[in-house]
Amino acid sequence: MTVRVRFAPSPTGYLHLGAARAALFNWLFARKCGGKFLLRIEDTDLQRSTDESTRSILEGLEWLGIGDYDEEVVFQSRNADKHRAAALRLIEEGKAYRDFTPKEDRADANVKREIAERARTAAAVEGVDHRSNPYRDLPLEESNRRGAAGEPFAVRLKVAREGRSRFEDVVYGEQVRDYSEIEDLVLLRSGDLSPLYNLSVVVDDIEMAVTHVIRGQDHLTNTHKQVLIYQALGTPVPVFAHLPLILAPNKAKLSKRKHGEVVSLTTYRDRGFIPAAFRNFLALLGWSPGDDREIMSLEELISRFSLEGIHRSNAVFNFNERDARQWTDQKALWMNAEYIRTMPLEELVPMVRSELESAGLWRPEYVAEERAWFERTIDLIRQRFYTLKDFSGQGRAYLSDDFEFDPQAVAKNLKKEPRLRELLPRLADHLERVEPWTTETVETALRAFADETGVKAGLLINSSRTALTGQAVGPSMFDVFDVFGRSRSVKRLRDAAQLV
Ligand code: GLU
Repeated sequence: MTVRVRFAPSPTGYLHLGAARAALFNWLFARKCGGKFLLRIEDTDLQRSTDESTRSILEGLEWLGIGDYDEEVVFQSRNADKHRAAALRLIEEGKAYRDFTPKEDRADANVKREIAERARTAAAVEGVDHRSNPYRDLPLEESNRRGAAGEPFAVRLKVAREGRSRFEDVVYGEQVRDYSEIEDLVLLRSGDLSPLYNLSVVVDDIEMAVTHVIRGQDHLTNTHKQVLIYQALGTPVPVFAHLPLILAPNKAKLSKRKHGEVVSLTTYRDRGFIPAAFRNFLALLGWSPGDDREIMSLEELISRFSLEGIHRSNAVFNFNERDARQWTDQKALWMNAEYIRTMPLEELVPMVRSELESAGLWRPEYVAEERAWFERTIDLIRQRFYTLKDFSGQGRAYLSDDFEFDPQAVAKNLKKEPRLRELLPRLADHLERVEPWTTETVETALRAFADETGVKAGLLINSSRTALTGQAVGPSMFDVFDVFGRSRSVKRLRDAAQLV
């Protein structure tokens, strides 16, 4: 059997992290099994679906590196006729029925739902059948006649009076539900006979020959209804694997309304994440390879992925809305830093280039005569960076003379010691004579100058760091001197004396 899985987002907004993770798990499973990964845009809610949202879903998948669907994208709204035909066939077979209940009787959906709820509870408690719809057992000829005469109707599935629906979920195990808890669900709406969600999903999944349905746990309840539709249509059910929820630190469901941009995939692209790093992070949100490995290449993720490794317990996304440094999950940031620090430089450089271009810091020399210098500098500063934004932020002083000093760094490393006003220009004079200019020669010269003037080398190192880079922390200062070169280094030391 060839594995066929699909990612089936509704294009009604941004691509939520949970959806992106569902896409990734489907993709990993398909790639692992040599199966097919399909994309179906569930755009049946015409009011809420937008092209912009579809575009952002496609872009998001592309960015994650999983935009290589194996077949043409399916748009669910284009299949409405097939969904309708399936429901009408079920009427002919006596598995569904036309419900001619006049509209005014269902006018208030809330009242109706409440009545149904009460009937259901009563049924569950007393074992009373709640399927009292008078049209349920209308003879087919009469139903056909009234339908043909233009009387409006909805189509409902005939759910058996007794028995239980059951299916096996790979993650959550056996799921059982008493039929008495499931209403005769509507397949087609009264009036325009537009298909409802559960019918459309099932008919499309059958049409697309989907073998495994991997999606969020919030669809577990729907699955019972979908299983009934599969059975009515006489088609075997696919394998179901539902994914644990992704929760906020306070255990609320992560939502854009409540938590803002942090739940939207494009935020990570826009805030300087490396796609491979974020993909690696998402893969571990509710799945583990069975040991505590965290950094995994794409090949490793594919080869180790299994539905059995998916967790049942919900994943918690740790961030703190009140702390800008913890705007997203700390592990995501840590992982991104790891990728930035360790990935092949030739893969990182093009990403840094786009970041510098959008910040107006890119210079064509960086791929020409200054290429070696540029790459050495990127290699040096990447060691402490968390996102690509840091290259244009904290890294700005390396690439431009127009940079800002961190006021706390100035207070700590320059203003605290008044002697620096005089020492920094003298250090500049001293370093100006160093020949050749290397990490080692600069270090020797700076330490000799410290001895000569009776100050600690640390004082000179820390103040030089702030003088040259505007920051209090950074790579080894002698490497920093090395990449800045002699003339920029001494100029910044002299200029910084003004700040003391
Ligand atoms: N369109 C549904 C959603 O976005 C997914 C349905 C499914 O995967 O079966 O939640």
